[in-house]
Amino acid sequence: ELKDNTIIIVLGASGDLAKKKTYPALFGLYRMGFLPKGVHIVGYARTKMDDAEYHKRITAYIKNPNNDPEVSAKLEEFKKLSTYISGGYEDSPSFANLNKHLEKIESSYGVKERNRVFYLALPPSVFIPVGQHLKEQCYVTPDVGKCRIIVEKPFGKDLDSSRELLGALKQHWTEDETFRIDHYLGKEMTKNLLVLRFANVAFNAFWDKNSISNVQITFKEPFGTEGRGGYFDEFGIIRDILQNHLLQVLSILTMERPVSFAAEDIRDEKVKVLRAIPPIERSDTLLGQYVAANGKPGYLDDDTVPHNSVCPTFAATTLWIHNPRWEGVPFILKAGKALNEAKVEVRIQFKDVTKGIFKDISRNELVIRIQPSEAVYLKLNTKTPGLHTRAIPTEMDLTYKRRFAEAAIPEAYESLILDALKGDHSNFVRDDELDVAWKIFTPILHWIDGKNGPAPHPVSYPYGSRGPKELEAFIGKYGFKRTVAEYEWPITNLA
Ligand code: NAP
Ligand code: NAP
Repeated sequence: ELKDNTIIIVLGASGDLAKKKTYPALFGLYRMGFLPKGVHIVGYARTKMDDAEYHKRITAYIKNPNNDPEVSAKLEEFKKLSTYISGGYEDSPSFANLNKHLEKIESSYGVKERNRVFYLALPPSVFIPVGQHLKEQCYVTPDVGKCRIIVEKPFGKDLDSSRELLGALKQHWTEDETFRIDHYLGKEMTKNLLVLRFANVAFNAFWDKNSISNVQITFKEPFGTEGRGGYFDEFGIIRDILQNHLLQVLSILTMERPVSFAAEDIRDEKVKVLRAIPPIERSDTLLGQYVAANGKPGYLDDDTVPHNSVCPTFAATTLWIHNPRWEGVPFILKAGKALNEAKVEVRIQFKDVTKGIFKDISRNELVIRIQPSEAVYLKLNTKTPGLHTRAIPTEMDLTYKRRFAEAAIPEAYESLILDALKGDHSNFVRDDELDVAWKIFTPILHWIDGKNGPAPHPVSYPYGSRGPKELEAFIGKYGFKRTVAEYEWPITNLA
């Protein structure tokens, strides 16, 4: 664990991620007393700005709605320990200059130990030169202290480019020093999956093909690219959401029990289950692109998107796990932009009850809502209270806002930066995990990119809808059955 004498260096400090996520998370940790004692934060990017401008930018997204004086005081301290250095990403003298700045801060420590954490909030085009220059100019050797490097997706565009990127970074940084962020692994409910699954005998008993009919892991966003389509169009919804975030959730949901909670034990199990998933078939894929509706523009109306783009903004893909626990259970990963709501959830649908005594009875479902408003609910059939015996769908419900009313749920980035400081790799993506994730998705991605023939045309869906009209048949094909009777959730102020 990095306790004292640590500098956190944010490269790309002028950017969007830094402003919206990295600095607010660093401040959150600082305020709660989780950053190392005497920590310094150094921003680095090409943009020329003085400390005042830098402080304005990095605090732009830090909230203090009630003007709490304690928060304001902490914020002033936070600004004092945050400095900025401007420099390029491809030239060695700039990094030598950064190193000088770091050494100046460290000269006040009075001890030999010094630790540096480099956070790359940068576009992938400069990951490799930055990784190299940091090692050559700004690295402290293990006898003096520890260096760590935190990198953000995208980790390549397919299997080959991912291997190339990983290989290039590995020339300078060991796996132990590297922390690859997939921020879904920092989300409270994703982390809860391990506990739900392995701390409950009751759950464990029905967690397999004998009880479960199908599983959906869903990401829905209620807005489109809205003028930021350049980046998105190059990647598409599968690379943006499915191949990383939803696959991470899938692997934790389906892996076998790890020997311990140690990072490598967990990651070994994740890799093992992912290796049992063959590449996705085209026939198990539904692609969509949103069109204008309800006064909202279509994807192709966005000026930052090529006018003839066939990039999917919606995708549903079904994965199969060939192991004794999961053989035959479809795992449907689906994600889309410009849909009717914002939500990320896992919906595990159980098989029908044995025929005979009930007619038209709903299936049980276990829903794990990752966001917004974390909740776990099990949809159960219950006798309608009263004099007749009729089953109606109800729920056993664990809504965080109600059950843990006082608890502050940490931001994913807070949790992950703290893990990186502790040196805990559990919630970061290991190299072999990335490799197998790309193996599952690369063939359909190449097909969608038009690499081996004509690219498929996504079907269209209206902005603000649940997705393509073909979705229902697609999901139905894998056995999903919607609740028979109208199921209504009586408590609206919590959801
Ligand atoms: P960004 O704002 O486009 O870039 C960050 C900084 O990098 C910019 O302020 C700019 O700083 C520099 N930069 C931009 N384009 C460059 C180029 N072509 N060549 C060299 N330097 C360039 O990116 P971001 O949105 O913060 O994202 C950073 C990383 O996090 C990316 O890998 C992204 O995929 C990932 N990510 C972002 C988010 C998010 O919410 N934004 C979420 C998840 C992951 P200077 O010009 O001052 O040097
Ligand atoms: P639901 O909104 O009824 O959705 C159930 C499933 O049916 C989802 O897979 C959904 O697909 C699909 N679906 C929704 N509308 C459809 C349509 N018109 N045609 C075909 N399929 C459709 O959710 P629920 O889990 O049964 O719960 C009902 C409501 O109660 C929700 O608003 C839920 O948030 C609330 N509730 C909340 C809590 C809690 O907060 N603790 C507990 C229980 C229930 P997509 O995901 O693709 O849209």
